[in-house]
Amino acid sequence: MKKIFLALPLVCLGQTLWAQDDAKLIEKAKKIHAKVFTLDTHADTPMRMVGKDFDISKDNSKDGKLPDSKIDFPRMKKGSVDGIFFAVYQGQGPRTPEANAKVQKMAMTILDSMYAQINRHPEMGKIVTTQEEALALEKAGKSSIFIGVENGYQIGNDLSYIQKFYDRGARYMTLCHSSNNDICDSSTDPKGPEFNGLSPFGEKVVAEMNRLGMMIDISHLSDSTVWDLIKLSKAPIVATHSDAYAVLDHPRNLNDDLLRAIAKKGGVVQLNLLSSYIKASPKNPEREAAVADIRKKYTSGGAMSDEQMKAMRTEMRELNKKFPVPLATVKDAIDHLDHFVKIMGVDHVGIGGDYDGGGYLADCFDIAEYPNLTIEMVRRGYTERDLKKIWGENFFRVMKDVQKVGAKIRAGDMAMK
Ligand SMILES: [Zn+2]
Repeated sequence: MKKIFLALPLVCLGQTLWAQDDAKLIEKAKKIHAKVFTLDTHADTPMRMVGKDFDISKDNSKDGKLPDSKIDFPRMKKGSVDGIFFAVYQGQGPRTPEANAKVQKMAMTILDSMYAQINRHPEMGKIVTTQEEALALEKAGKSSIFIGVENGYQIGNDLSYIQKFYDRGARYMTLCHSSNNDICDSSTDPKGPEFNGLSPFGEKVVAEMNRLGMMIDISHLSDSTVWDLIKLSKAPIVATHSDAYAVLDHPRNLNDDLLRAIAKKGGVVQLNLLSSYIKASPKNPEREAAVADIRKKYTSGGAMSDEQMKAMRTEMRELNKKFPVPLATVKDAIDHLDHFVKIMGVDHVGIGGDYDGGGYLADCFDIAEYPNLTIEMVRRGYTERDLKKIWGENFFRVMKDVQKVGAKIRAGDMAMK
């Protein structure tokens, strides 16, 4: 009996000390999070800007009301997220001249809408293309919006569209999305490989992106496409939103051999925060069939109209209510990041949350909750120096390296002429 009476206060004291230590750690992590430049390299917010009812200067978090975006200027500020890459995204549609013309036109509409929306609020943030501009904005307390293009389908068969995108500020292009296109094979096309990697047109796309100094994004690409790029690209390559296959064997995730090769080539892999790539959810065939039906209904026809986007989101919300799925947590996500660091080292990893494209976690629902990621990383022993690299420096370094390669190629071009 005596022993129990003695042990109890000790247990309580231990817990109190632990809670105090953890509170200190959280404080420290929050300070680091606010201090370092925090960059997220992939979000799918721009499609929401094509509609009339999205306002990036307002907090759009009110549950149940459209548009259900997880990102806007007020919440970037709240979550101390200093910069974000917004993706000009369109799902894969038919590969015909008519459909190509339609997506090319729509891509320009998305860009126009994004510029119009962001330029309306210069006191809150701006569209930028360099680390230097972003750091200056951070000092002034403003947010930086970078541009990427997700799905090379949007260039059609016209190489000159790559420069069009570059000139309008895009600094990376994800070569494909969830299906194969004219450039390359995807990791998730149900029909399987079409080219066993890059197509002959895809090889020209790579040469043009290298020449311009535009980053090649390998997220969504099949393993054989990534291997082709590792051989062919003159510049480092990036995965703007991908997870680790060794932690979860999803076809969208990258295996260790690929991770090593990407790092060896000087590239970077950015952690995706999309729950189903992080942790397997219990099988639910009824839900899976319903999701497949919705996808088929809305995404098989190429570009979606504003009304279709709204209708799809409403149907998805209803479906999530009917078949709730347990979401992965920040801890589960950082397990993938730990694995990246183990395989590639801390100089080759970053964060690309895929918010507004399906990314979010149980305890990191929107961009305002991003400090939770830093808290978990600090808990696991990552230092301020590590966090500075992970939260932006690594990606900015690759961005500059890719531009240097482009400048060299262009100098060679000119010397030859
Ligand atoms: Zn994606």
